Amino acid sequence: MMLTKLGNLFPRIRQRLAADFRLSVITMFCVPAAIAIGGFGVFRFLDGDLLMTVVDSLLVLLLVSISACAWITGRTVITGAVLVLFTGAGVLAVLHLAGLVGLFWAYVDTIATFFLAPPAVTIPKVVLMMAATTALGAKAGLGLLPLISYATTIFVVSIFAFSFARRSLAQARQLEELAIRDPLTGIGNRRALEEELCIAIARVQRDESGAGLLMLDLDHFKEINDRYGHSKGDEVLKHFAQLVTTHSRHEDRLFRFGGEEFVLLLNNVGEQSMILAARHLQQTIRDRLSIDGQPVTCSIGAALAAAEDDWESWLNRADNAVYEAKNNGRDTVIVADSRPAGKP
Ligand code: GH3
Ligand code: MG
Ligand code: MG
Repeated sequence: MMLTKLGNLFPRIRQRLAADFRLSVITMFCVPAAIAIGGFGVFRFLDGDLLMTVVDSLLVLLLVSISACAWITGRTVITGAVLVLFTGAGVLAVLHLAGLVGLFWAYVDTIATFFLAPPAVTIPKVVLMMAATTALGAKAGLGLLPLISYATTIFVVSIFAFSFARRSLAQARQLEELAIRDPLTGIGNRRALEEELCIAIARVQRDESGAGLLMLDLDHFKEINDRYGHSKGDEVLKHFAQLVTTHSRHEDRLFRFGGEEFVLLLNNVGEQSMILAARHLQQTIRDRLSIDGQPVTCSIGAALAAAEDDWESWLNRADNAVYEAKNNGRDTVIVADSRPAGKP
């Protein structure tokens, strides 16, 4: 049991690191930095330097806590910003207490800073750090020429890290966006749907607000493809997604479940309003979506979240209701009963 849980944990960790760029940067910074500073702490303890042992231990504790906070809360922007403020203070403390070795850590801090927090925090911090570390370097006895070398190199490193971090963050954001969007219609894809369903079901169980799912499946879509071609079929899919989006409430979320199947998530609804929404959408599609003068229709399966549902059983009930709608002659709405599929 324990081993199975551990076995499931690693893929989940890998998945979160792959999906969240900032979380992975926070982790990749905190873990090696904590190990390295922890090593120094042990060395200083054995060397009898109690003050630096305390400073190193505090830094390790801080790195571990901030990284844990990012993992638990998922709020990586604020934790990243807090982290860069503390790492800056850590570098100044080491520079003040242990002397010039602190300057080596200033490079690590500068590079990491640009990847960990937004420019509004990083630019003032790095400018202040450059001034403070140069002043402390002079106070610790660094000669004029090495001091100029330090100031110049840390400046070059800052410019490089700033540009590289901005580019990487922009690309990571684009990739994160692409991973949850359907390229044809621009709406959320199945992965985004699963995430939203988990959130919705948790909310339903927490505050007992109602939530409904409409599974919409275009009728005889294969015939449209066969008769008018695949690209005309694509146009119908795009138009369908646009119609459903514009004729549903602002807070409703539409996802492409697959091929010609879509899911509309309705938060804060009861059964009656869910059914009304389904009928309204069905009528809208029948009236406004056509090809060559022929109306295009859709079958809808509706399911209200039940207390015992998890997101999969909820989705399954909507899916089974669509299946029933197809067997009932299509272009109709079927409401699933409120029991999760498979339970008596
Ligand atoms: P039913 O009324 O029973 O739902 O019949 P149907 O023809 O709509 O359903 P079926 O599952 O038989 O066919 C779905 C078709 O959707 C087959 C597939 O080629 C087409 N399809 C899936 N994805 C796309 C897409 O991205 N673009 C286009 N043009 N067609 C697609
Ligand atoms: Mg279909
Ligand atoms: Mg289908």
